[in-house]
Amino acid sequence: MREDILKEVLREKQELQARNEAIATDRAREIREKYPDIAELLRQRQQMIQAGIFGALRGEAAAENLPERMEQASGEIRQALQEKGYPADYLAPIYDCPLCQDTGFIGERIKEKCSCVRKNYQTKLRAAIGLPEGGDETFERFQMEIFPDEKRPGARLSQREAMGIIRKACETWADQYPDQQPRDLILAGKSGLGKTFLLHAMANRLIEREKNVLLISAYSFLEIARRSYFENDGQLEELIGTEILMLDDLGSEPMMQNITIEQLFNLINERQRRNLPTVISTNLNQEELRGRYSERIASRLTDRRSCLYLPLEGQDIRNGRK
Ligand SMILES: [Zn+2]
Repeated sequence: MREDILKEVLREKQELQARNEAIATDRAREIREKYPDIAELLRQRQQMIQAGIFGALRGEAAAENLPERMEQASGEIRQALQEKGYPADYLAPIYDCPLCQDTGFIGERIKEKCSCVRKNYQTKLRAAIGLPEGGDETFERFQMEIFPDEKRPGARLSQREAMGIIRKACETWADQYPDQQPRDLILAGKSGLGKTFLLHAMANRLIEREKNVLLISAYSFLEIARRSYFENDGQLEELIGTEILMLDDLGSEPMMQNITIEQLFNLINERQRRNLPTVISTNLNQEELRGRYSERIASRLTDRRSCLYLPLEGQDIRNGRK
């Protein structure tokens, strides 16, 4: 998990707790001031709790029927509130998440992150890396029907059949990480064949699995590379050290003299040296990769021992989308 985002989620949880406690305090004050009879019921219940605690501290057995008497006192308070036109639970503790009572954690001896924390974390991580909100681009929502099912002359598979294999390969990669084989993955093909959707589906699956993934466009990468070339602000170093890096649309970024190729090589080479996985989508085929980025980059990206190269072919599905 990304520590900075997790910290933010837990800090927000604490703020929420504090806000809800302040609301509860205000409500109690309001009721005490307006309704002396309810104030008296509250005082009596408080006394009962106090007496129970002191008794326990003195080693006395629990007072007889204490739970029943507490429940009866609370029932009277709830009823009195309703008679005055308030909701029965107006003075109950306020929790946004009843599961963890807004502590963010569940479990007694072994603390586990509550589902509310996981959900907030995933939402924030998606936003931080530019994934569409809601996490809608998933393997489950991947529509195979939009790909033509007719075989083109000479083709062994239809576009839909080929896409089914590629989709499965991407899903398996995301499910098996960090034990996936091979380490890297490339989706190569022209625009409109579903590359970005697959990349997003992989990112969403990895985020669900609480893996540390960073998704950036090749264009943003070049911006970072350019700044790092002139100012060395450390951002490129961060990309290089990211657990799983996804680079979208390689080939669409401008070619900057001394920067694009040098920094891309630096990124890829350094990540391979550290054995960190990189997932790339590109509109270039192997030959075009070689032509644009030189042999030393292309060979690193297409080495079958370290990289699963998935070529997407067929017709643009964006116009025929149902
Ligand atoms: Zn919770």
